[in-house]
Amino acid sequence: MSQFIVPGSTIGIIGGGQLGRMMALSARQMGYRIAVLEPTHDSPCAQVADVVIEAAYDDLEAAKALVEASDVITYEFENIDEATAQWISEKCEFPQGYDLLKVTQHRLYEKDKISSLGVEVAPYAAIYKEEDVAEAAEKIGFPAVLKTCRGGYDGKGQAVVKNEQELKQAVSQLLKQGELVLEGWVPFQCEISVIVTRSTQGETKTLPVAENIHRNNILHQSIVPARIKQETQDLARSIAMTLADGLELIGTLAVEMFVKDGKIVVNELAPRPHNSGHYSIEACETSQFEQHIRAICGWPLGETTLHSPVVMENVLGEHVDPMLKAVPLMSGVKLHLYGKKEAVEKRKMGHMTALGKTVEEALGKLNALHKN
Ligand code: AMP
Repeated sequence: MSQFIVPGSTIGIIGGGQLGRMMALSARQMGYRIAVLEPTHDSPCAQVADVVIEAAYDDLEAAKALVEASDVITYEFENIDEATAQWISEKCEFPQGYDLLKVTQHRLYEKDKISSLGVEVAPYAAIYKEEDVAEAAEKIGFPAVLKTCRGGYDGKGQAVVKNEQELKQAVSQLLKQGELVLEGWVPFQCEISVIVTRSTQGETKTLPVAENIHRNNILHQSIVPARIKQETQDLARSIAMTLADGLELIGTLAVEMFVKDGKIVVNELAPRPHNSGHYSIEACETSQFEQHIRAICGWPLGETTLHSPVVMENVLGEHVDPMLKAVPLMSGVKLHLYGKKEAVEKRKMGHMTALGKTVEEALGKLNALHKN
């Protein structure tokens, strides 16, 4: 068992984005100090940290500085360099370990692992070279989604293909980024996610199921409770628990899933707090960020009871100006901004959360801002 990290100690966070910032804000409330390793200047997390190490993630000197400053180390994104993560885990308390990162950094390893735990994923086939195309097409059929195994997010490094010709073209483009996976198209009714957290003591808790609406492959809204049957919600939460136990998770895991005819197909995993769990800051007894800090610092996990129906909506670069103009109308809406200076189109700049007696009422509060 990892040790109890006493408040007053320093939590080191690899990655300085909004997830790191919101983790840090929860950790500070609990009395911890924060060190952050992040290459960009004045990052969202650096703005609320005590110690800032501005360097590349794979810079070993910087990793040493982080270890020296920290009593425990966590991360806000999964694409951490293997050598750095291994080195850190030998030198400092790193409760999440490297094994989970290794699995979730690579779509094929991830799908193999999920399947081995008896949980369904879309049919898939590996493509390592152009000659693998025919066999993969034969096995998966069309339409299908071609994805890079490493590094894709928000729909980047992906192509929907309708026939073998389109697949060949997409493969010749994407193979430059390394091995690929071809996935069968899942005609889902909706997309949902469950955030699950497991502590160093092996205690596991899930947050309520979020129904996720995407626009241009970027999360637009999370609606909670998800508008699906209770038994499907229960199934989603039990699948997340199965994965958490099977992966011997410590910390937080986001499980993205498709719902199809009351059945659940797991799409992907993220070993960290997730955009679709932001609603928990206002709507749950314990937020995903506090829960993560509790888990890695050896606290008991908090209750995850949902206090109210809720909708979270992302604020992208192009939404910032209209949203700021709508602030006078936000008496029933909480606006979070991440401190990013440049409001680049599609960049996640913040989010809004609306509570209501029903999800329709919460949606209505957000819609009223758009009519402005
Ligand atoms: P991902 O990066 O894997 O989360 O994919 C981004 C989005 O593409 C998902 O949120 C889905 O809306 C869609 N998508 C990905 N894979 C599939 C699939 N196999 N079938 C249908 N839609 C998919």
